[in-house]
Amino acid sequence: FTEISLKDIDQVAKSSFPLCMRHLFEKLREDHHLKHGGRMQLGLFLKGVGLKLDDALAFWKAEFSRKFGAERFDKEYAYSIRHNYGKEGKRTDYTPYSCQKIISSMPGVGDHHGCPYRHFSEENLRAALGRMGVGSRALEDVMEKVRNKHYQLACTLTFEAVHGTSYVAGINHPNQYFSDSKKTLE
Ligand code: SF4
Repeated sequence: FTEISLKDIDQVAKSSFPLCMRHLFEKLREDHHLKHGGRMQLGLFLKGVGLKLDDALAFWKAEFSRKFGAERFDKEYAYSIRHNYGKEGKRTDYTPYSCQKIISSMPGVGDHHGCPYRHFSEENLRAALGRMGVGSRALEDVMEKVRNKHYQLACTLTFEAVHGTSYVAGINHPNQYFSDSKKTLE
């Protein structure tokens, strides 16, 4: 079981988050805000990778406070984070979203959730993959999978390109991408 702590979250996001989560993470750092769909997708993923509730609250608060102030965070947003951890409402212990769920979501204007292989424009996807360090050869292979609507295979090829290893399992969950990335890098 892997755990992440706040002090190395930025570095881990760069090295081991799949593109969908990396994008949300970067947008949160940039805008100090994410809309509901993004908070759910990233928040549950972070819970799944072992970010503890207290750290999760500190993490979201540090960003949202810069935009809205700490008081508004405590009033409007802290509840939903505790809720995700099963500490409020029906006390359901919510599970992180699978690729299938993320791919079939429908992000609207200003949303950053969803699967970039499915929801980004070709131009944005190419740029994002370049920033992840996917070389031009591998990038064309990824884009071919995307054109054929094989988004999880595109993500699998990205994993292989970024980690320099073959990955036969195939990606079907962002948390699987994360834990296998950690294992590969160890
Ligand atoms: Fe995320 Fe899954 Fe899409 Fe990869 S295939 S970017 S893990 S939703």
